[in-house]
Order: sequence, then structure tokens, then C-alpha cells
Amino acid sequence: MVHPENTETTDPAETVITRMREQGISSLPRNYELVYRFLNSSNPALIQEFAALGRRPTQLQLDAIGMRFLPHLHPVSAVEQSLECVFEEMRKIIRLFKQDRSRLEKYSTLLGETSARMSAKGVRSLDFLDDLNRVLSSATVDTMEKSKAIIQQMVERALELARLKAELEEYKRLSGIDPVTRLSNRRAFDKRLAAIYEDLQTVVSQALLVADIDHFKAFNDAYGHQVGDRVLRATAAVMTRTLGSETFLSRTGGEEFAVILDDTSLEEAQATAERLRVAIESTPLKDQNDGVDRGHVTISLGLCMAADASGPANLYKKADAMLYEAKTSGRNQVKTHTPKMKRIMGLLKR
Ligand code: GH3
Ligand code: MG
Ligand code: MG
Repeated sequence: MVHPENTETTDPAETVITRMREQGISSLPRNYELVYRFLNSSNPALIQEFAALGRRPTQLQLDAIGMRFLPHLHPVSAVEQSLECVFEEMRKIIRLFKQDRSRLEKYSTLLGETSARMSAKGVRSLDFLDDLNRVLSSATVDTMEKSKAIIQQMVERALELARLKAELEEYKRLSGIDPVTRLSNRRAFDKRLAAIYEDLQTVVSQALLVADIDHFKAFNDAYGHQVGDRVLRATAAVMTRTLGSETFLSRTGGEEFAVILDDTSLEEAQATAERLRVAIESTPLKDQNDGVDRGHVTISLGLCMAADASGPANLYKKADAMLYEAKTSGRNQVKTHTPKMKRIMGLLKR
């Protein structure tokens, strides 16, 4: 479908370039692709989010939209592009050095030749000394001016490299962040989960909590995907507030979150899970955009202590099995993995 904004001009490339110039968007290939998709899109979410950017959007804002709608371009290809720029800068520096070396070589040859002529003619000739002075002065000024220009270019190259390095670091940071909620993403979670079992001393006091919003499909169907996204952000904010910013919290999938608790006992972890459940359940979803009250959502949670699993994958599997049990037992509740031995001991105590 052709976007209504794209009906007057026939050349799509020209339309894209004009749009980018008008909106103050820098001419990076990924921006070109994004604007092209926007102008030719039938996806209302993309059209609305892009239109909301206004004039002179930052590259971060553009990339946040790009990562959602053109994930194939972000962030790997962006990193590749930046790397290519770094290589290009390095090639330029090497070229400059080569140029400078050949200029110095010429200068040195000139000095050598002059010195040879000096020995041939004899140093007493005043004319020759005048000649020599002229030749050397002009060669020296020429070399100094060219060196100055080279130094200036080197400074510019260095600044460009520093900018690219900062850009690469930003992409590295963004590659671990979920663009919708700004929490850590699945990739960062997998790394953090694996790290639990790297230190045998702390493994006994860590726990994994997985949470999933109940009946979120129905919520989305009733209010639309955009309201759904806002609820995801609100859920993330409530969870962050409840846990504190030190606790690792991530969005691991659509409406699924995972928390890694450090320095905790089973009882403390259960209490934290319950606090999260209550905090979400009691947060009214009054939309600040349209003032409409959309009630509230609830979450189900599964909990497993790291020491009760054999490794990262097993820990996730066990916590997830508990989440499934919480769902099948009626939702809006916490279920905890209890190892067989503990269950038997518990039965014997009765
Ligand atoms: P349950 O209580 O069993 O978890 O039911 P559910 O409807 O939450 O679960 P289901 O897995 O059937 O549906 C998940 C829904 O989450 C599907 C989709 O509508 C929604 N969803 C997934 N990712 C996103 C997202 O990024 N944004 C929005 N708005 N919705 C999403
Ligand atoms: Mg769900
Ligand atoms: Mg789910």
C-alpha cells in the first residue's frame, strides 16, 4: 500500500531524500531504509511512531523505531557499518602516513643531492650558498606546510574515530536492551543466567523468578497493540520500582519478564515474588493519553532457587514449569519449585 504522504512525487528515492532533508534526518543507509519503509508502509504502528518523531529526531530515537520495525538492520548491521567506517578511517590514516613518508623521502633526496653538489662545487662559492639557501628554504616551508595539513587531517581522523567508537559502544549497550520497556532483553538475560553458575559460593543464594502477564492477548484484542505496549512499559516500571534498580530484571519475550535475585533465601524470594504480584494487581491502568481507566492486569510467577537446578537451562525450565503451574491453577499467583527431598520432609513433618 502506498502511504498517503507519498502520492505527489513519483520517484521514491527523491521522495525519501526530500523527506529526510525536511525532517533533518542524517543520511545514514539505515535511516534511508527506515524512511522508505515509513513512506511505503501499511503498518499503522510504524506510521504513527515515525510521524510522532517531529523535526530533527535523534539517531537514538530513529534506531529505537528501526530496531522494532527493521530488526534485520539493527544492531548487527549498524555495528558492521560502523566497523567499515573505522576501517575506512584507518585506511585513510595509512594513506596519509605513506604520503608523508614519500614527501620526506623526496626532501631527504633533495638534501642528499644538494650536499653532493656542494662537495662538487666547493663551499666557498657564494652564489651556490645563495642557491642552496633558497632551495632548502622553499623545500622546508613546503614540507612544514604539508605536515601541518597532515596533522590537521590526522586530528580530524582521530575525532571521527572517537565518534565511531562512542557509536559502537552505544550499539553494544543497545544490543542488551529491549526497546519497548528499556529493560534488559533476552540476550542480556541469557548472559546473566549463565553467570549464576560461574561462582559456586553465590549460587546457593540466588533465585530465578519468571513472570507472565495473564490473559494479555485478550487485553490486546480489547484495547489494541499500542495500549498493550504501554501496559508492558507500565508493568516494567512497577516491577523496577518494587525490586529496586539494583535487581536484575529483564523482558525475556512478548509479555514475559524474568528476575534474578541475589543474596536471597527461598522465603525471601517467595516474599519478593508475592510483592511483585500484589504491586501489579493493585496498579490501576489509567491511560494518561486518553484518560480512560482500563482496570488492571495480573501476573503469574514461577520461582526456583538456583541451587535446586543443575545449570542455567535447567533453572529456567524449572521456574517456567512453576509459571505454567501458576497459570493452570488459576493465574495471579506464585508457584515455587520444591525439590523432591524437601517435599518428602515436609510431608513427614505433618
Ligand atoms: P496467559 O494468561 O496464558 O499468559 O494468556 P496470554 O493471552 O497472556 O498468553 P498468550 O501467550 O496466548 O498471548 C500472549 C499475547 O501477548 C499475544 C500478543 O497479543 C501479546 N504480545 C506479545 N508481545 C507483545 C508486544 O510486544 N506488544 C503487545 N502489545 N502485545 C504483545
Ligand atoms: Mg500471558
Ligand atoms: Mg506468554
